[in-house]
Amino acid sequence: MKIKLTIELVPSTVWFSSLYNIFKNSSQQALWRDIKNMIFKKEGRKCWVCGRTDRRLEAHEFWDYDDKNKIQKLVAIHHLCDLCHKVKHIGLWLHTDKGARLLDQQGLDSFDVVNHFCAVNNCDQDVFDKCEEEAFKVFAERSKYQWKQDFDAYEKIIRPLIKNEY
Ligand SMILES: [Zn+2]
Ligand SMILES: [Zn+2]
Repeated sequence: MKIKLTIELVPSTVWFSSLYNIFKNSSQQALWRDIKNMIFKKEGRKCWVCGRTDRRLEAHEFWDYDDKNKIQKLVAIHHLCDLCHKVKHIGLWLHTDKGARLLDQQGLDSFDVVNHFCAVNNCDQDVFDKCEEEAFKVFAERSKYQWKQDFDAYEKIIRPLIKNEY
């Protein structure tokens, strides 16, 4: 079975080291806006996974994991609707008090997120449960390690910012 909308949990050891966070922590939000504008131009104002145009669009960083050499590589950035994006970061949204509070503030609950997963993937909740369990297994294993990060095309912009920060 092909899962179109997957759950991708970032290992806890690199949680605060996303491109977005590094820009934010070094007051370079303009760079993030540039990236968003570039994606809008290239891909239009719609969710890259489900195609919806009627919801808030948030840029999501897609990472590849070289589990042997412990290298986390940024492979793409696309706009996702807020529901697809919540599925990607399901640990926060469905499994923390903060996530529950934020969902409530947005007039949503956990069923909205799970139902969105099932609708996009055309599956039932059993499939969601299995995918979630598997994602948490991978997360637990990867969170045991420090990861070397590869920001690919953004290396040149990012490295000096990291040096200043830490
Ligand atoms: Zn979507
Ligand atoms: Zn994201």
